[in-house]
Amino acid sequence: MPDEPGFPIGETVSDERSVQKEMVVMAAISLQNIGMIYGNNGSRCIALQNVNLTIHDGEFVSLIGPSGCGKSTIIDILAGLKMPAEGVVLIDESQIGGPGPDRGTVFQDYSLFPWMTSFENICFAIEQTREELEPIEVKDRAMKYLSLIGLERFRDAYPNTLSGGMRQRVSIARMFSMNPVVFLMDEPFGALDSLNRIYMQDVLLRLWLEGNDRKTVVFVTHDIDEALLLSDRIAVMTPSPGQIKEVVDVPFERPRNRKDLAESQEYIALRSRILSVLYSEMIGEIERQEQGVRGLL
Ligand code: ADP
Repeated sequence: MPDEPGFPIGETVSDERSVQKEMVVMAAISLQNIGMIYGNNGSRCIALQNVNLTIHDGEFVSLIGPSGCGKSTIIDILAGLKMPAEGVVLIDESQIGGPGPDRGTVFQDYSLFPWMTSFENICFAIEQTREELEPIEVKDRAMKYLSLIGLERFRDAYPNTLSGGMRQRVSIARMFSMNPVVFLMDEPFGALDSLNRIYMQDVLLRLWLEGNDRKTVVFVTHDIDEALLLSDRIAVMTPSPGQIKEVVDVPFERPRNRKDLAESQEYIALRSRILSVLYSEMIGEIERQEQGVRGLL
């Protein structure tokens, strides 16, 4: 993994104009003392408290934790869709001021425009974020990513004619085609059945690992095996208030084989460690809720 600052990444380039077009700025993300509160005094929810996390250039970090621990809130803050109540968020040492083309997102609900075909959805995203590209370059780029995800035959299909897995493949192709420096993915495979999920994990890993411009990824999941397969590190979160309980290194060599992984003792031990952190917090949360209910009786 390229973790030295300034590691030269970018697509193969041949002339100065192309260099400018494809130059990739390395992103490191820094969340410093992040706090987030929803509601007011009557219904106040501390969604995040004192969240600190540094994500290195080209690193794949998953956020895992039970529902309500603030995973989506972190993604929304990184996407610039929400401002934290406290703390600082830096991408490449610049404070986030709102959404920007340096960050590509994939959410669980696909978020493709229903009135555009697969091809048009991807072209539109490229046009919005890569204004320097000529129309022919936009089209070439869109076709390149459609074929990389094996959907070139479906270029003229509208989202409502595609399966959930295919729609999510288009969303992923769209994100890669925009060439942002950071990928923000909020439970992108959460709505898929298990076989489609496995397929999509492989598609994502293949695209992410190929070439020399590996992106920085923040990936939300509640699936430990998914996190262990994909990530360099896993931030285990706990609710009430949302905090990062532990950051776990995932030491397995890439490319990873899911069957070999699942059979290795190291994998089993790591999985069990993460599970016990999540489980103990879940029991604690249920007890806190029960005490709250008893207090009302
Ligand atoms: P997760 O993604 O881990 O399920 P979220 O980030 O969606 O968690 O939510 C964290 C907490 O903040 C939850 O308790 C949730 O109910 C609350 N929350 C999220 N969005 C809002 C909102 N817009 N208004 C009020 N509370 C919210």
